[in-house]
This record gives sequence, C-alpha cells and structure tokens, in this order.
Amino acid sequence: MTENFSVAMTNVTNSELSDHLLRMDGQEDICLALYAPSTGSLRRTAIVNDVLLPQRGERSVHGNASFSGSYVLRACQQAARTGQGVMIIHSHPNGRGWQGMSAQDADAEESYSRLALQLTGKPLVGMTLAGEGTWSARAWTASESIQADYVRVVGPSLNVHWNNKQRPVPPSNDRQLRTISAWGDKTQADIARLRLLVVGVGSVGLDVAVRLAAAGARHVGVMDFDVVHEHNLDRMIGSTQSDAAIRRPKIEVAHREMERAATASSHEFRTHNQDVTTVEGQATALDYDIVISCVDRPYPRAVLNQMAYSDLIPVIDGGIGIDVFSDGAMRGATIRTHTLTTGRPCLVCSAQIDLSEVTLDKEGLLDDPSYIAAAGQAERGNQNVALLSICVTAGLLSQLVSLIARPGGRGVSAPLRYSIATHSLEHLHVKSRTHCPFEAETGRGDLRVALTRPNA
Ligand SMILES: [Zn+2]
Ligand SMILES: [Zn+2]
Repeated sequence: MTENFSVAMTNVTNSELSDHLLRMDGQEDICLALYAPSTGSLRRTAIVNDVLLPQRGERSVHGNASFSGSYVLRACQQAARTGQGVMIIHSHPNGRGWQGMSAQDADAEESYSRLALQLTGKPLVGMTLAGEGTWSARAWTASESIQADYVRVVGPSLNVHWNNKQRPVPPSNDRQLRTISAWGDKTQADIARLRLLVVGVGSVGLDVAVRLAAAGARHVGVMDFDVVHEHNLDRMIGSTQSDAAIRRPKIEVAHREMERAATASSHEFRTHNQDVTTVEGQATALDYDIVISCVDRPYPRAVLNQMAYSDLIPVIDGGIGIDVFSDGAMRGATIRTHTLTTGRPCLVCSAQIDLSEVTLDKEGLLDDPSYIAAAGQAERGNQNVALLSICVTAGLLSQLVSLIARPGGRGVSAPLRYSIATHSLEHLHVKSRTHCPFEAETGRGDLRVALTRPNA
C-alpha cells in the first residue's frame, strides 16, 4: 500500500454505520464491512460497501465491545467471493475528532490482519467512529499499519474527516480575508486541502482553474492533451498570440495563469498531459477528490460519469448549447450544470449523454463527415463565445460551493438549465432510472466495468 491512503463511503452507508455504532446506551459497539479498492496512481482508497451487521453470538457489548473469530471468517469468505477486502469498525462514544488507537484496539485489529490478507489478498482496514460523528481509519499491511489521510463521506455534499497530523490545516493569509469571511475557516481549510482536478482547460476549464487558485485551493490538477490555436484566443482569457503561434499546450497556459492568480502561501499545481479515457488518465483522476469536467465530448464524459459513482468522486459537469438561425443570427442558448454524485442523477439518466454517441466517439467516428452523412446525423455544433462561456464557469463553481460549503445544508441541486432566450432558470426534475448501469456501480471502485482504453 502506498502512503496515500483514504477511505470513502456514501452518506447512506455513513448513516447505516452510525445507527448501529452510536448506541442509545452509550456503550461501544462494533461491526464488520466489506470494501472495494479504488486505485489511483498515487492514492489508494477503500470504499466501504457492504455493512455486515453482527448476527446472534458474533459480538458482545460490555464497555469494550468484542467479536468472534467466526464473524471475521464470515466476512473474509464473503469478501474473497466478491473481490473485496474486510473492515473492522468500532465506536468511541466519548471520542471527539480523529481517533488514536489504544493498545487493545491495535491488538484486536492486528491479530486478524494476517488472516484477512491471506483470505482476501487485501489489507485489513480498521475504522473508528467518534461519538460526535468523526471517522478515522488505517490499513494493516503484512508489516505495519498505515494511517489514512482522510475519510470522505460522499452524497449531495462532500464531508471530509481529516487526519490533521498528516493533512494539517494550512495557514490562511490576508489575501484571503474576503473569501474566508464568506464561508468561514472550516470551509477554507477544506478548499485548501482537497485535491481538485479540472479536466479540459479550454475556455471554461481555464477560467475554473484560475478561480480555484484565487480562492486559495492548494492542490489543483489540470488535464488536457490539446494545444492553443488561434481560434481559441477569443475565449481562453489569459492565452496570448504567442501561445497560439508556438502551439503551447493548454495545460501550460493554465499552469501559468494559476500561478499568477494563486493566493495560498504554498501550493502544488499539477499538469497532466493525458486523456481521461485512457487507463493512465483515469488512474490520475482517481487521485483527486472532486473533478470538474470541462470537456464536451461524449466518451470522456461517460468515463467521468462512471467514476463519479463507482469511485465516489463527485464530478461537476456542464456546458452550453447555442442555436443559430440559418441567416447566422442567434436563436437562443442553453446553459446546463449538474453534479454527478450519489443521490443525484447521472448523465445518462438526465439525457446529457447518449450511449450510442459514446460508442461512436470511442471509435473515432463522431466527427467523421462521411459517417455522419451516411447515418443521417446532424453535425455537432461548436459555437461558443466568451460572453457566455463564463456563465458555464459560474454554474460549475456555484455547484462546487454547494458541494463543499453546503449553504442551507442541502448540498448540490438537481440539474439546472438556464435558457437565455426566455430568461428562465429551471430546476430539472430528473430522477435516476431504476436500472441505471452507472449508478448500479456505486462504490465498486476497481471492480467497475472497464470503459477506458489502453494508454496511447
Ligand atoms: Zn477503540
Ligand atoms: Zn443514471
């Protein structure tokens, strides 16, 4: 296991575990669960999936809860059958914040760690829930225990439980006074510690990345494999004629503009000259906590749509469609923004991607004029103007604020659609389909169906 280790679970799993572990009588309790691994290039995450509540005789509650070997064996067998790992989870009713381990805790977990590793091939993960609701976690390899950096509880909002020793609260500064006065120190500390990835740094992605840097985000990655062309200059604010002349990679322009805008005292902005539809590009994306999708093609959007659910990494997506009359005048424009996360519908359910287009895009046929003509399809429009692309940026970033700062306590909205011709902002009442294949993979991590293709 690498040093970057984290745990993630849905808000529904969090409630199920809390209901069992935080007892009315105030005693400590225990249960086992199964996790799916989610493996990035730098980070490993254990995603809590199946909660195995104890059956009669499998545990006893008496001040310090204890459990039987047969309970662990039952969990190991089920984990081995389903390609998952095992977790031992207990509560500290009087605990506050990230919990340390007593010698007794360490003994109990360590004594089962070899059995779990042997039967499942995956490290045992231990978790503790403090009485006020804070999670802490560690993984047991053959030789040592590794503390997690954080535990993420994911739903319409993102709630992160930080290991402050490994991810200390970064100092804020006077450049951020107005920002902090808008949402307080806790949200600022989240922004500063979260890993945020912008996929696609054209007109919208570049704006998004620069604003994240200005807001004090310290870990921002930008992913794109395209270069700046002359026709990008009317929308990529900050790019120059010389960038276009030398075909500078868009990620380099984004990096330069982010450095200029950054307000954090120290930061680490990463550039990824990758395609998220490759195995390698996806592994990079799996290192991040939130992805902001600024790509418009169906195939990369489908890959991100899957990851949002399978790996519990919220993806904020959106775009603009501009309609033009045959005489060239503007007929209307529609701006959509939505967050793909458990508890909200995916891109297929909200009809934002069409799986047959995803297949065409994957096969490189989507822009092939002879194919489009033969199939009788309309050509894809690519009109865009700087005066409106900023509306997409604004929509995406306000979803991000809802996700992290939770104003009103409600997290992200249902999908939103703004029509410029009618001046109407609609809350779309889209529901997840019962048999949505993407949402059915929630929490599957590396067990997800492979959509990516081999590295280029
Ligand atoms: Zn304990
Ligand atoms: Zn769906």
